Amino acid sequence: MSPGLGPDFSAPGWLGWGRRVSLATRHGKEKVIARPFRKGLGAELVLASGFDTDSLGSFSGERPRLSDAETTCRLKAEAGMAETGLDLGLASEGSFGPHPALPFLPLAMEWMAWVDRAQGLVITEQLVGCRTNFDHCTASPGADLDPWLDRIGFPTHAVIVQPHRARAKPCLSKGLGAVAELREAIEQASRASSDGLALLETDMRAHQNPTRMASIRVLAFKLVRRIASPCPTCGAPGWGRVDVLLGLPCDWCGTATDLVRSERFGCVSCSASEERPRADGLTKADPQFCPLCNP
Ligand SMILES: [Zn+2]
Ligand SMILES: [Zn+2]
Repeated sequence: MSPGLGPDFSAPGWLGWGRRVSLATRHGKEKVIARPFRKGLGAELVLASGFDTDSLGSFSGERPRLSDAETTCRLKAEAGMAETGLDLGLASEGSFGPHPALPFLPLAMEWMAWVDRAQGLVITEQLVGCRTNFDHCTASPGADLDPWLDRIGFPTHAVIVQPHRARAKPCLSKGLGAVAELREAIEQASRASSDGLALLETDMRAHQNPTRMASIRVLAFKLVRRIASPCPTCGAPGWGRVDVLLGLPCDWCGTATDLVRSERFGCVSCSASEERPRADGLTKADPQFCPLCNP
């Protein structure tokens, strides 16, 4: 790109080498994020921990999220930049809920955003369907919780307890990782509940959930790889998958199925995009997914 027409992505240092990047977290995410960004991009993290990231909404629902997780992630990164005064910011955000197709299974998604104000770029990467212990149950005091606790990985994974049907504003006990404090929290919560039950939920905050922390590490490497991928047209960082196109044809009759046919890669700075075949090389759908052959 010639000078004067926009950012010069061929200039040294446009990625992150030698730059400082704020990371908005109060949940110890720097433990898994610092290394990939230092090794891959030469960027040094500066913690922005004064900002209450929960003010944009929390997993435990004390404060509902005002935006979708991807937007919340970017807002978090920008809040960290405002605190540190840096022009480069990072944040991560998770979302957990029932799987839309298989409601008895949880679906976990993680987002991570890199906001580069000097270049006017926002590069986001995501992980869909990460391993998760996301779950909840109700319990009365003295109930045998061992099977549930084993399944969610207690005590290395903490638990949140609150009244199942709170009479007043519910009081929440978070980060419970010891049997005695868990029992006491269940007793208190069930006394404050009109049905005498406590609601137990997995604590999804990264520092209380090693499974989630591991996903954030994987995502950090994925985002670093994406930032380091230049757009083939303008050279901007962040070239990667922006969309999937459905309609993989049936192997018998050629009808379009709901399976992914191809991926669209795109640039975060210019309008360049490219359709690519599936990464696994599949070009025909098994007829079991065909609306005609297997209605
Ligand atoms: Zn067919
Ligand atoms: Zn481009």
